[in-house]
Amino acid sequence: MRLPPIVHHPAYSVPLPEGHRFPMGKFAALARLLEARGLFDERNRHRPEPADPETLALAHDRAWVDAVLSARVEPAAERRLGLPVTPAVAARARAATGGTLAAARLALEEGIALNAAGGSHHALRRGGAGFCVFNDLAVTSLALLAEGRVRRITILDLDVHQGDGTASILAHEPRVTTVSLHCRCNWPARKQQSSLDLALDPGTGDRPYLELLDGLLPGLLRRTAPDLVLYDAGVDPHRDDRLGRLALTDAGLAERDRLVLERCREAGVPVACVIGGGYDPDLATLAARHAILFQVAADLSRRRLPLRPRRSCPGS
Ligand SMILES: [Zn+2]
Repeated sequence: MRLPPIVHHPAYSVPLPEGHRFPMGKFAALARLLEARGLFDERNRHRPEPADPETLALAHDRAWVDAVLSARVEPAAERRLGLPVTPAVAARARAATGGTLAAARLALEEGIALNAAGGSHHALRRGGAGFCVFNDLAVTSLALLAEGRVRRITILDLDVHQGDGTASILAHEPRVTTVSLHCRCNWPARKQQSSLDLALDPGTGDRPYLELLDGLLPGLLRRTAPDLVLYDAGVDPHRDDRLGRLALTDAGLAERDRLVLERCREAGVPVACVIGGGYDPDLATLAARHAILFQVAADLSRRRLPLRPRRSCPGS
C-alpha cells in the first residue's frame, strides 16, 4: 500500500507550564496514533529542516523573527501570542513552519502530503497571536513563489477561526488566493479581509456546511488555477470542540476532508495539508479527530487513483 508522505518532527510537542490551555501534547499523541493505525512509518516518514531566519522573514518582520529565535519576546507580545516563548517553543515554531514547507515540496512531487502540525494562521507580520508564532502558510507560499516553484497558490482554510494573519500578510500578494470558511461569531473579533471569506452561523452542522463546500470547490479551483493548494484542516469546527461552534460531526469532518482532497485530485492540483486548530481537552479524543484527515488521505491513496500533479513547476 502506498501511504501519502507525512512530515513530523519530535520538536512538535514541547513542554508548557502545568495547566496551560494550549493542548501541546496533541502533536505527539497524533503521531503515536497514526503509527498504531499503520498510517505512519518509515515508508512515509519525513523529518523537516527547521525554517531558517531568512525564510521566516519572507512573511515576518525580522525583529519578530529575531525576538522569537533568541527567546526574548516582550511580555505584551507573549500575551497576544498566548504562549511563553522559551527556546523550546521557538524551536518548535521553526520545525512546524519547516514542516509545512517540506509538505508543500513533497506535494508538488507526489500530489499530496501532510504536515502533522501547522496551520498557524493567526500569526501576523509583526508578531504572533492566538497560539501562532510564525505563519507557516504565508511563509511556505512566499518561499515557493520566491523560488519560482509555483506561480499561484490557493490557501483553503477550513479551521473554525478566520485565517486573519494569513489574509493580512498576503493581502498584497496577487499570486496567492486566501479562502477562509469560518464561524462568524468566533475569535478574532476583528476580522481581516481574505480573498474570499465565508462566515457561517454558529450551529451550521454537517449538511449545510458540506453543501456549501461542495458547491464552492470546483469553481474555486477553476478560477484560481493554482499550482498548489495549502489546506488547513483544523478540527475545531467539531461540535465537541472547546473553541468551535459549527457543530460538525466526525463523519462531517471526514466528508469535508474527502471533498477537498478529491476535488483537488480531480482538478490535477497538488495539495499540502496542515492540521490546524483543535481544542478538545482530552488528548486521545483530539488526536483521533486530527487523524481523520490522515485516514481519508490514506484511503484515497489505497484506491490507486493516480497521485499526479498537473505540473511540477512552471514552464516544465
Ligand atoms: Zn481554530
